[in-house]
Amino acid sequence: MSQFQPTERTQVKRLPKRGHYDRETVYKILDTGFVCHAGFNVDGQPFVIPTNYGRSGDTLYLHGSAASRMLKTLSAGVPVCVTVTHVDGIVLARSAFHHSVNYRSAVILGTARLVEDPAEKMEALRIFTEHVMKGRWDDVRQPTEQELKATTVLALPLEEVSAKVRTGGPIDDEADYTLPVWAGVLPLETVVREPIPDAQRKGDPPVPDYLKNYSR
Ligand SMILES: Cc1cc2nc3c(=O)[nH]c(=O)nc-3n(C[C@H](O)[C@H](O)[C@H](O)COP(=O)(O)OP(=O)(O)OC[C@H]3O[C@@H](n4cnc5c(N)ncnc54)[C@H](O)[C@@H]3O)c2cc1C
Repeated sequence: MSQFQPTERTQVKRLPKRGHYDRETVYKILDTGFVCHAGFNVDGQPFVIPTNYGRSGDTLYLHGSAASRMLKTLSAGVPVCVTVTHVDGIVLARSAFHHSVNYRSAVILGTARLVEDPAEKMEALRIFTEHVMKGRWDDVRQPTEQELKATTVLALPLEEVSAKVRTGGPIDDEADYTLPVWAGVLPLETVVREPIPDAQRKGDPPVPDYLKNYSR
């Protein structure tokens, strides 16, 4: 099935035309980024914590220190809301009221599963690493048993998911189109710059192709 089923909780109610549930749109938003915000409740206090993620099929992987409050909480089965946002532009309207932002975002609701099987955990870490930088995993020293023990990996199934996308220019009130105010879009994007080699390097391996050609 190429569509996620909207639920009462994931149905976009404000400007529903901007809501998307097809896997293609959701996957694209998730694969363009690698930083999400994970929201969860601890003793009635909501926390929203920025963290990295990787995706494989309908699974989102989170990882971190086994001592992390976030990961301990989520692995105990506390419901989580994960959000990924890309800002594409500032939409400048002729009135203050109609200013907006062009964006692509995804919201995932669910409960994460602790990845315990060592083979699955290693594979999840590979997926996680490759999601951030394709080609990196095969280049680097693999995690030791001790490093694996110190790392918690969680798998969040993509089941209850929505995407919301705004594109295009400002939508002004008819009477405002004649106002002498500049209107339009200021496009914004993340730019890749020249890699900075580590000052402590002992050898001088060439910059890998996956760095030279990095894009998302
Ligand atoms: C871009 C990015 C990517 C990251 N990727 C990962 C990852 O993959 N894995 C991972 O484990 N962690 C990652 N972190 C760090 C993460 O945000 C948390 O700091 C970390 O997971 C510890 O979480 P905790 O719940 O144990 O924090 P605790 O130390 O228990 O949090 C206590 C309090 O510290 C404050 N705090 C914690 N983290 C932050 C923060 N990032 N910014 C501001 N205040 C904070 C909050 O008030 C929080 O309630 C990332 C952070 C950023 C910004």
